[in-house]
Amino acid sequence: MMRFSSNHFLFVIFFVVTLICTQNVHASEVVVYSARIEQLIKPMFDAFTKETGIKVRYTTDNEGALLARLQAEGKNTPADMLITVDAGNLWAASKAGLLKSVKSDVLENNIPLHLRDPNNEWFGLSVRARTIVYNTRKVEPRELSTYEDLADEKWHKRLCLRSSKKVYNQSLVAMMIAEHGEAETEKIIKGWVTNLATDPLPDDTKALEYVAAGKCDVTLVNTYYFGRLMSKDSNLPLAIFWPNQHGSGVHVNISGAGITRYGRNEKAAIQLLEYLSSAKAQNLFADLNMEYPANPTIKPDRFVATWGDFRQNPLNLIKAGELQTTAVKLMDRAGYK
Ligand code: FE
Repeated sequence: MMRFSSNHFLFVIFFVVTLICTQNVHASEVVVYSARIEQLIKPMFDAFTKETGIKVRYTTDNEGALLARLQAEGKNTPADMLITVDAGNLWAASKAGLLKSVKSDVLENNIPLHLRDPNNEWFGLSVRARTIVYNTRKVEPRELSTYEDLADEKWHKRLCLRSSKKVYNQSLVAMMIAEHGEAETEKIIKGWVTNLATDPLPDDTKALEYVAAGKCDVTLVNTYYFGRLMSKDSNLPLAIFWPNQHGSGVHVNISGAGITRYGRNEKAAIQLLEYLSSAKAQNLFADLNMEYPANPTIKPDRFVATWGDFRQNPLNLIKAGELQTTAVKLMDRAGYK
């Protein structure tokens, strides 16, 4: 009878250890493509690696470039996760077949229904509220009520808007179409255009600066731009108003993530996504950019909390993607440049 020599035994041990290690090399890394800049993602990745030992490698670029890259790489992509801003972009990735449906009780518990894909291909991780900001010397808050009301003639030559080319406004109008239908929404947008005090502006900060300088009285912006400006100069005569609180709620969008269809480290990638939705990471994810946590059990940053509570529009954000083209055409018809 052949007996195992101690050499044989050592060899078997060596073989088994090697096997485990090789498997770990695969399981101990997640590759992320992120349209969110490095400063906004690295702290969470570091915390995740510290807790789990799983490394996170990431590439940052704009959404368009990352989507094109995922598409070109196809089944050979090294990416396991895609992080972008705006549901419209996540929807486009899903529509192009680049994402995979994820079954996770953790994610379903942590992220409310309206902030994730009905098929669970993408999940919101932070909430960005697009709301009214007004000049406190020229507007009484009681004059304000809804997005729709900004089409009323009482706002004639008092409104500033960012360009309709920005996906933020396309998503806002898409969600309005989902709520009111095309004909009604077109009337509202035409009203906005009639009320403009200046041509549409290139970005949210410019719009806020115009309101602060009294060139117009009200505008629509994402709150984190308001936060950035006010933390530089708290004396600016600007304040936030939460519209549609007795109706549809404030228009929100997300920055969020999905698991890529052809990634190789699915298990670890889902683990990272679950971590990002958890109490441990939610404040890191939202606070760094003065956004709101997507997980409703987590409180926003203290400075952000001073802007007050508001009710979000509970309509599923997939509409922002589905109706994006319709919204772009509508804005064009309405003369919104
Ligand atoms: Fe932005």
